[in-house]
Amino acid sequence: MNKRVLFAGLFHETHTFLHQKTGMEQFHEAGIKIGQDVISGNLGNGSPADGFLSYAATQNWDIIPTIQMAASPSGAVTNEVLEFFNQHFFEGLERECQNIDGIFLVLHGAMVCESVDDVEGTIFREINRRLGAKGISIPVAAVIDLHANVSRDMTDFSTCIYSYRKNPHSDARDAAVQAARLFDGLMQNGDVTQHHLPTSYVIPPTGLGTSADPMQSVLAQARAIEQGDPDILCINVMGGYAYADIADCGFSMNICTRGDADVARGYLDELLLVLENNLSGAYPSEATLDAVLLQVDQKSRPLGPVLLIEPADNIGGGTPGDGTGILAPLLATGRKNIVAVINDPEAVAICHAAGLGANIDLKIGAKTDKFHGEPVRILASVKNISDGKFELENKQSHLASMMGIYINMGPCAVIENQHALILLTSRKIAPMDLGQLHSQGIRPEDADFVIVKAAVSHKDAYDPIAGASYYVDSTGLCTSNLTTLPYKKLRGKQISAQ
Ligand SMILES: [Zn+2]
Repeated sequence: MNKRVLFAGLFHETHTFLHQKTGMEQFHEAGIKIGQDVISGNLGNGSPADGFLSYAATQNWDIIPTIQMAASPSGAVTNEVLEFFNQHFFEGLERECQNIDGIFLVLHGAMVCESVDDVEGTIFREINRRLGAKGISIPVAAVIDLHANVSRDMTDFSTCIYSYRKNPHSDARDAAVQAARLFDGLMQNGDVTQHHLPTSYVIPPTGLGTSADPMQSVLAQARAIEQGDPDILCINVMGGYAYADIADCGFSMNICTRGDADVARGYLDELLLVLENNLSGAYPSEATLDAVLLQVDQKSRPLGPVLLIEPADNIGGGTPGDGTGILAPLLATGRKNIVAVINDPEAVAICHAAGLGANIDLKIGAKTDKFHGEPVRILASVKNISDGKFELENKQSHLASMMGIYINMGPCAVIENQHALILLTSRKIAPMDLGQLHSQGIRPEDADFVIVKAAVSHKDAYDPIAGASYYVDSTGLCTSNLTTLPYKKLRGKQISAQ
């Protein structure tokens, strides 16, 4: 008999310091899928759900799809969203629970709702309660993002969680395939335990790239332990997501094993030591724009653009993507050949109304809130207008982990003057794939300066074309200086190099 698997997805990385809430509208934008649409809407799109469903097809599992919801990283999720998910998912669970071999979820792991700090843990707890009440024992597994803020409930009330191993998340789809493989084994024999080790470290996104320490060393040791002990199903090294003011915020590790609990805990302690011995890279410093430009001017002109990385308005971390903290002062210096992207639907509408080739005088950016600079006045011409749809050039882009390979930026416009070429978007899209610019007729390769609103996730796309790359300190709520954020629930965790 074919295995029957109940399937769902819920994906959001929640920045609790942003003032705008994330509601049904934002989830509708990314597409809420219900029933069979969950399967047809994912197969072939390069996402983690695609990874799981493709593996399931090779095993002839009967997938019972319930619901899948995702939205771009942004502010606290409304209760309505979680209620909508719960209604569809638990209805499916109640209907099918006597007749399934397991439950598999595609989650982020750092979702916070207006009234629930630990959304994923709460879902696992509820699944466990409902199955327990009926005396049903089946594996409940999930693939999660490396930036998940994992709670004890997430490991206590699931059978196995499996996280991405790379940041940028080029392995997101593959991680889902690996998770599906483990899940396969769990449906034969679900006798495993999970152990969770939270740490006291909250690390900003800039300190969590996996080609640098501390992640690199901790991950290498985790892989060595996995390979050396056949009892271990997986060890997850969770970088965490710093912009969530919740008790479970931060770096954690967990292990799923068929072996001895003390041995597993010993491994986690060993990994904690590796982390603590490699913390120096966890809190990188950023220079002011003036200091960076001074350095640039002292060197010979590089082959390729100078990347000005702007982590404070890291779109993949949830900020609005309309920050002018680098763009405004850079334009004020009179520099030329600048490429930038600003999310500004209002400005896009003005450009579309004016038409291709029109000369415009408008203010762009910094319209979402007061934390991301001031609007910048631009005199420019409209060089391109489009519907903003494009396909990822790199199918394993970090962006595919969040929204698959077909991306919709909403209506877009490109404006140009003697200083800059600026892509204006209607939906914020993180700079994780060059297709975003190429599709709009912009070649960042030919620029002198490219402003990149990211922390780490841009690297696969932008590092190969860069002549040089600088992290620039600017204004915004994805600041790497966590000491400036008004945390209330961290209970003495370390948020800086100290
Ligand atoms: Zn992530």
